[in-house]
Amino acid sequence: MSMNIQLRRKAISHVKRKYPLLVKDDFVKVPNYQEGDVVTLVDQEHHFLATAYLATQNKGDGWVLSFQPNEKIDVAFFTKKFQLAYQERAHLYQDEATTAFRFFNGEGDGLGGLTIDYYAGYYLFSWYSEGIYRHHEMILQGFKEALSDIIGIYQKFRYELPKGQTRASFLWGNRAPEPLIIKENGIQYATYLDEGMMTGIFLDQREVRRTIQEQYAAGKNVLNTFSYTGAFSVAAAMGGATTTTSVDLANRSLEKTKEQFLVNQLPLESQKIYVMDVFDYFKYAVKKELTFDTVILDPPSFARSKKRTFSAAKDYTSLLEDAIALTERNGIIVASTNAAQFNMDKFKEMIHQAFQRTGKAYQIEAEYQLPVDFKVATSFPEGNYLKVCIIRNK
Ligand code: SAH
Repeated sequence: MSMNIQLRRKAISHVKRKYPLLVKDDFVKVPNYQEGDVVTLVDQEHHFLATAYLATQNKGDGWVLSFQPNEKIDVAFFTKKFQLAYQERAHLYQDEATTAFRFFNGEGDGLGGLTIDYYAGYYLFSWYSEGIYRHHEMILQGFKEALSDIIGIYQKFRYELPKGQTRASFLWGNRAPEPLIIKENGIQYATYLDEGMMTGIFLDQREVRRTIQEQYAAGKNVLNTFSYTGAFSVAAAMGGATTTTSVDLANRSLEKTKEQFLVNQLPLESQKIYVMDVFDYFKYAVKKELTFDTVILDPPSFARSKKRTFSAAKDYTSLLEDAIALTERNGIIVASTNAAQFNMDKFKEMIHQAFQRTGKAYQIEAEYQLPVDFKVATSFPEGNYLKVCIIRNK
């Protein structure tokens, strides 16, 4: 028997509108519970509202699992979720030019706290709380029953673990080669499933990479800031960019970026790679009077370096001002952020303010948010964290 938790009035109406996230404030009385406990949410009359699991996490204290009375949370429950996720991504599995994408997107696919990415036959699980991880055996069994062609499984723990516990590991099946070469719209990327928390590519930018390749690269001089492994630079070079410049302060970015060019047989001579603070690079570029046709901005939502801290919510406008100064007339700025603290409307206000301050006109030519495989629940639009604007500098 699972525990009943009575919800406050406001939370009752949230759950009735299929809102999936729970916070402690929703509960009339916060029960004693263990991470991962499955509970029944009820209204004032003790009528069923939903089944949920409780888990302390980055945001919130639990997720709804089912709005259907009497639906059991067992292996078959998870199998069904994964079968549906598979069907909804059939077009991606069939696309030979793309072999990496998100297979399962947490609450968007009906199970908050777990995402699963597909990398050329391998799967990468990300657990976002101890509470969801408590159910890992059932989840894995359900996963294996839903899918037939799994080569191997890796996992990452994206919550605070007890000291000394590893945050990333190989989990099941066969190990992937290193690097594991994946394809995206025909471009190859070197990825590493067992190297820290990141793999070498952010799969949510697939459509943006494609747009840069197809529309904003041919014959252009492209600057890619916060470039990480240079994925945007590679897409631009594959699209015919005359030259690309990648800037990232992490030492690893130099080798990683070279590798991405090399796996696509792109000559390194036309590519510049700087291991450098972006803000120092801006100063250097201004001094050298460098300008670019296409400037890509994709900073982390928060970063601390030796000299300064950058917070997208506070500093994106001034980052844009710096970028505008280096962008050719009629050039393009690809402004991207995954900061959860603000939405697309607010982001556009920042863009507007930056252009106003520099006294320049602009036009937003295209906007991107998460691609379809990063499924977003209609009742939970805040799950669509990605915001990208393609801006013409008039
Ligand atoms: N745009 C990349 C992902 C960026 S991840 C892509 O599409 O693949 C954020 C990157 O910003 C990290 O690699 C980090 O090293 C870098 N970074 C953070 N602060 C920086 C700074 N001040 N200057 C340069 N790079 C920075």
